Amino acid sequence: MFETSVAGSLPKPEWLAETNKLWPQWKAQGDALRQAKADATLLWIKAQEDAGLDIVGDGEQARQHFVHGFLEQVEGIDFENKVTMGIRNNRYDAMVPQVVSKLRLKGRVHAFEAQLARAHTKKKLKFTLPGPMTIIDTVADRFYGDKVKMAFAFAELLNQEALALQADGVDIIQFDEPAFNVYMKDAADWGVQALERAVQGLTCTTAVHICYGYGIKANTDWKSTLGNEWRQYETVFPALARSSIDQVSLECIHSHVPPDLMKLLAGKDVLVGVIDVASDVVETPEEVADTIARALEFVPKERLFPCTNCGLAPMARDIAWRKLEALAAGTQLAKERLAAS
Ligand code: ZN
Repeated sequence: MFETSVAGSLPKPEWLAETNKLWPQWKAQGDALRQAKADATLLWIKAQEDAGLDIVGDGEQARQHFVHGFLEQVEGIDFENKVTMGIRNNRYDAMVPQVVSKLRLKGRVHAFEAQLARAHTKKKLKFTLPGPMTIIDTVADRFYGDKVKMAFAFAELLNQEALALQADGVDIIQFDEPAFNVYMKDAADWGVQALERAVQGLTCTTAVHICYGYGIKANTDWKSTLGNEWRQYETVFPALARSSIDQVSLECIHSHVPPDLMKLLAGKDVLVGVIDVASDVVETPEEVADTIARALEFVPKERLFPCTNCGLAPMARDIAWRKLEALAAGTQLAKERLAAS
């Protein structure tokens, strides 16, 4: 009960890449970079295990960014000539690569870090991939001319990599779809179907992570415009409840998401965000346990998985480390409270 994990990314050590950035520059090249990525992956697996998490991941140490890490292995994308594009409905500008011809995988994308992680932990292993709708919101289209068509083209490639990750021994494959919270109607109309294409044939556990973004200023500014009740999940959760996706990861602590929206996910595992990634204040075990207790009003205990609101990539390393410990300690307290009640 209450198996813990992080949403995905963890901070990169300063010897691997620039710190506190979403698109950090690597600090090495070639074989040295490959070795540094491997070292950082092992370090975070150890940290997650030491903190007492039940499900661990690679911390996304081998990819520069959660979307572009995948795109770098896709043929048909021009990475040399990036353009500035407003992403997430123009919330902020990003330098994005361009889709210039038919998309095809160059080969495996994440074999190196997935196999490395699998070889070095006996815990359940979760691996994250960007979702199709979030990918098409993070590239400039110069070829398909139809966002749904392009999303399904990416979904097919994601599916190839996901099947290979499953063969590598990954237990849970999670697709990150922050765009679902921005284009709610599209998400319900075709975003979930594109996701279904991405998970086709998988027998491992499948998950989708939907959040309000990393704790960067553009996102916290945007959140301050969303009012007292954030009801974005209300549009897409019913479509997800009808889908074959097993788990949904969502924001909870310090958000204005009405907790009763979790009821819309009946039949699904719910990864409840009990750690805030937009604040450097480390949660107390009591705070974490209280957030779990609030979610328990709407999620059965066997379906509740304490998690972080989002990835921790842009944070300071020591704070992220302490937040992992808070996640485990708070979950332990929640178990004790439940046993005593
Ligand atoms: Zn997120």
